[in-house]
Amino acid sequence: MNAYREGLSGACPRCEGALTGTDRGGVGLDECGGCGGVFLGQTAVESVLSDDGVRANLAAELAPRPRYVEQGVRYLKCPRCARAMNRKVFARVSGVIVDVCKDDGVFFDGGELGAVLAFVDRGGLAKQAALEARERQERAKGGAEAERPADDLQSLRRLRFRARGELRPDRSPRRAVPLTCAR
Ligand SMILES: [Zn+2]
Ligand SMILES: [Zn+2]
Repeated sequence: MNAYREGLSGACPRCEGALTGTDRGGVGLDECGGCGGVFLGQTAVESVLSDDGVRANLAAELAPRPRYVEQGVRYLKCPRCARAMNRKVFARVSGVIVDVCKDDGVFFDGGELGAVLAFVDRGGLAKQAALEARERQERAKGGAEAERPADDLQSLRRLRFRARGELRPDRSPRRAVPLTCAR
């Protein structure tokens, strides 16, 4: 029994279907039979990112799913602690928006986990590291001048995602998300 399988709560954050704890190629995860979303604990995410063999085994056993298309921004509740999760572009340059609970793990909508595995296999994490090294250099140069290149890079990246139809820019103001939603 994997430690990161403990503490399941059972409801899918996206569709409220049942999450089932399962094993895919040796990786423990919670899977929704309804929408195809999966929740991975922190330990599972780390081993998938750092170990090529683990990633290959998982990819081989993931049921292919059509990629989830976001119909509007919604903040999902963590299936373990029920707090609102943060929306993040996975590894910043993947174009895949995931929902992250910093304490418990990451929720991938249908098809997103497969897309992330492919991104990592293409060397995506090295691209993220290179981007962050550049940003550190810019910051080290200091001053307001250094802000501009990063801003340009940001808007470029947004444009590119928009062109590929993968990211709907969030123009709505950030609001506190009520944890008890009317159903
Ligand atoms: Zn679901
Ligand atoms: Zn949580």
